[in-house]
Amino acid sequence: MFGIIGAMKIEIDMIISKMEDVEEVNFGIRTFYVGSYNEKEIVIVEAGIGKVNAAVTTTLMIENFEVDYIINIGVAGGQHGVKHKDVIISDYVLYHDVDVTSYDAYIRGQVPGHEPLFEADQTLVTNTRFILEKLDIDFKVGKIASGDQFVTNPDTVKEINEIYNDIYAIEMEAGAIAHVATIYKVPFIVYRSISDVIGDENQENDFYKFVAEAAENASIVLSELLKTL
Ligand code: SAH
Repeated sequence: MFGIIGAMKIEIDMIISKMEDVEEVNFGIRTFYVGSYNEKEIVIVEAGIGKVNAAVTTTLMIENFEVDYIINIGVAGGQHGVKHKDVIISDYVLYHDVDVTSYDAYIRGQVPGHEPLFEADQTLVTNTRFILEKLDIDFKVGKIASGDQFVTNPDTVKEINEIYNDIYAIEMEAGAIAHVATIYKVPFIVYRSISDVIGDENQENDFYKFVAEAAENASIVLSELLKTL
């Protein structure tokens, strides 16, 4: 079974509307939708925004469903030349707002006891890449960084880019989802469609303008990806 996680309702509704034999199952504070999508069995959930919501929801999913893969879809702020609705595929995911560097043993983003980067499943990365090429959607494979902020501030962006120079997408949940999936040894991938370009004027307005289309892109990619698995 495939576990699909989106932070916001708009990110998962499109997929739920295309599912067959949908059943609603409640665990704790979350409603999971179980059914088939493109003839594959999936469970999909709205996690809520931010790292804690994402971690709680990913844990509930893994503890209650037999998920072989976790796929985090949604939108993000983009940088390094990406455009609205381009897709960023994670090769690695990290936190940009974790800092234990006063101890020499750690680099920025690293949680003690863990690697600084959470590695996505390479088969999922390769398959998603192939699909985006086929669908003629512009994409980048690179790092996705998460923190509990909607990032617009140039100083924050500068600090984030000091950690790595190939962070193409900044958002608020992927790090926590990747972290929980890594702890439980469930292979994962994150792909995010760009809703706003970091540093543009009116980023918040762009977010509202592009979020629906970006979410639709993500649902199309998912449908193709499931065919390959
Ligand atoms: N408009 C929403 C809040 C959106 S927060 C509300 O009123 O409830 C932004 C969401 O989109 C998060 O889920 C985050 O993962 C993603 N996101 C898109 N652009 C982002 C950016 N520039 N910085 C951080 N997160 C971003």
